Amino acid sequence: MIVVLKKGISQQQIDQISQRLENQGVTVSPVVGADLTILGLVGDTSHIDPARIEANPLVERVMHVAEPFKKANRMFHPDNTVVEVCGHKVGGGTFTVVAGPCSVESQEQINGIAQAVAQAGAQLLRGGAFKPRTSPYAFQGLRYQGLELLQQAKKLTGLPIVTEIMSPDDIEVFMDKADVIQVGARNMQNFDLLQHLGQIKKPVLIKRGPSATIEEWLMSAEYVMAGGNPNVILCERGIRTFENYTRNTLDISAVAAVKKLSHLPILVDPSHATGRWWMVESMAMAAVAAGADGVMIEVHNDPVHALSDGKQSVMPEVFEEMMKKLRAVAAAVGRTVLPRRRPSAFPKVSCREVS
Ligand code: PEP
Ligand code: MN
Repeated sequence: MIVVLKKGISQQQIDQISQRLENQGVTVSPVVGADLTILGLVGDTSHIDPARIEANPLVERVMHVAEPFKKANRMFHPDNTVVEVCGHKVGGGTFTVVAGPCSVESQEQINGIAQAVAQAGAQLLRGGAFKPRTSPYAFQGLRYQGLELLQQAKKLTGLPIVTEIMSPDDIEVFMDKADVIQVGARNMQNFDLLQHLGQIKKPVLIKRGPSATIEEWLMSAEYVMAGGNPNVILCERGIRTFENYTRNTLDISAVAAVKKLSHLPILVDPSHATGRWWMVESMAMAAVAAGADGVMIEVHNDPVHALSDGKQSVMPEVFEEMMKKLRAVAAAVGRTVLPRRRPSAFPKVSCREVS
């Protein structure tokens, strides 16, 4: 951090400000020029609030030289983080396909979709039990019953479960029923929820807020990591722009940016990014080519009657075809998307047996 002081400041004032900053645990190196005096702050500045320094009338401005996120920063952790989910690795060169319906609707629905995506080669099953809907009159999810239905689908297919949490009060239940706890885009800056998720070790998938900058998103990851949970996965799901043909605008460049700034794995969700099922395949291919660690795809057996997000959900047959194309693109860029599997080759549940 660099603090630029106002013109004409006295040596005594420089010493006073430096002392106050050093009291906060950093080393201050003043550079006194003919016109300007600057103070270079060295050390851990993460707990120093630049706004408070700038509130001093003797300070011209404060500039960051390093990003405010530390634990999520590649600078301090050059190796890619690999998050283990029931024996499956997310990140570190593995390409992860998360697939399933927007909402869990019935046992028959989730079982059928889980079997279809498991056969097509997906590694994790998604499905919302708690749904953050824009309208209070829209389907809100099957809640705790939905979590139970997901457990049965996991038992049937061996696919670990990714599902969204909305309240810190449910963490205890999610510890038991989820393998990856999803923080939805709307809750990306629910700092109370993030702090609570920092107290556990279960993997947390943080979706990017619709109007969050990349730095704000990484600061949300920092909240979880600062609490002591290093198992964070990011997910780009489109941001709000002036364009309204698509539901959101997929910020594919966020993949490259996050890869440079952070060591955390990043997935792309082309379903929520586009809002249209027929755009999902091409955007998923773009995600593989851009270097994402995986994709999250909404799949529904009967999109017309889906209780949420039918318009952006692909049918299982379309998902199968998409997986073929993802394999071809992955091969072209030196990555691997896992092959189709028979039910006899469904993964073994290796985290916690469900009864
Ligand atoms: C979802 O994954 O179903 C969802 C609600 O996504 P988002 O939080 O990205 O809108
Ligand atoms: Mn959805």
